[in-house]
Amino acid sequence: MKPFRYETATDPAAAVDLLSREPRAAFLGGGTNLVDLMKLGVEVPEMLVDVSRLPFDEIAGTDDGGLRVGATVRNSTLAVHPVVRERYPALSQALLAGASPQLRNLATIGGNLLQRTRCTYFQDVGKPCNKRRPGSGCPARSGVHRDLAVLGASQHCVATHPSDMAVALAALDARVHCVSVEGTRTLPVAELHRLPGDAPDRDTVLEHGELITAVELPPPAQGARSAYRKARERASYAFALASAAADLRVTDGTVEHVRLAFGALAAKPWRARAAEEALLGRPATEESFGRAVDQELAAAEPLRDNGYKIPLARRLAVALLTDLTGDHAGGAR
Ligand SMILES: Cc1cc2nc3c(=O)[nH]c(=O)nc-3n(C[C@H](O)[C@H](O)[C@H](O)COP(=O)(O)OP(=O)(O)OC[C@H]3O[C@@H](n4cnc5c(N)ncnc54)[C@H](O)[C@@H]3O)c2cc1C
Ligand code: SF4
Repeated sequence: MKPFRYETATDPAAAVDLLSREPRAAFLGGGTNLVDLMKLGVEVPEMLVDVSRLPFDEIAGTDDGGLRVGATVRNSTLAVHPVVRERYPALSQALLAGASPQLRNLATIGGNLLQRTRCTYFQDVGKPCNKRRPGSGCPARSGVHRDLAVLGASQHCVATHPSDMAVALAALDARVHCVSVEGTRTLPVAELHRLPGDAPDRDTVLEHGELITAVELPPPAQGARSAYRKARERASYAFALASAAADLRVTDGTVEHVRLAFGALAAKPWRARAAEEALLGRPATEESFGRAVDQELAAAEPLRDNGYKIPLARRLAVALLTDLTGDHAGGAR
């Protein structure tokens, strides 16, 4: 590993100031992704600014009945928080479906959102990769792309975003709070990550030195239920091949409120807005769920080896929505 400087941030203003003065510096959360990438030589920061001890470790109710989660809260803490389990079950389930207990104990909310793709070429500095070295090429398109994107990819990159938590947050309409030397801003989680286009080296819309301070969940939609489902190659300790999070309210057999997001299909958590629109006011049947999801997935452009993700995601979403209409579905509120 290349030598680097290490600073512990004492307050957010100092943290963003340090980053703004050093173009090759990075924030350090739990380090479970960044330090691995540094060992591989993928990330080579001159300085790490440890933000894990900043005072963003609270989970607190908001005035409007929502929940504010500090960026340094650990994944394991959030997963078992009683309010999250009861009112935002999709979030708890997504967190518990990610990584291992040991990793979840270290991983932070901010770091989880900004973890980088698991594309094997990205992680191998001996290979070209447009995300790691712009303009060098994308060997994944014709090579190993079984785990990679079927939605929103470009000629330049077909990577997927690996976070389970981000998919649930996107379906729950969560917002991200950030601070930089320019001031503060808030944006929807669904708009945090970027599709690759011709600049796949930029994973998110955040600028260098912009610090995530919190994630905020709106109050749960009245009478709705949420859940997360993940398909993976092993029962635990594996990234998603496809995943889905949904929040659904059905009254008298009709869909009155629906939010749906897919994971592992694109470079961002994929909010299924076409499917949501197709479902609103329609009967809550397996058939109409299937039709709506087909409408969403019609935009998919699979490569040679990843077309299986389309029927897999369809089955996951239809089963999830169907379960949420049942009497015994998890996450009633
Ligand atoms: C073996 C293994 C299996 C895994 N399986 C899964 C899985 O199934 N599902 C899943 O979702 N994840 C999985 N993970 C990934 C794990 O969840 C992430 O590594 C972790 O969530 C990252 O959080 P962190 O705090 O350690 O981030 P770090 O590694 O510290 O940082 C990650 C990135 O976020 C930036 N950053 C950190 N905090 C902030 C902040 N507050 N503001 C701005 N930038 C910040 C860092 O600069 C860095 O770029 C796995 C990891 C491993 C090693
Ligand atoms: S898919 Fe993206 S991350 Fe993977 S090799 Fe191509 S450019 Fe790199």
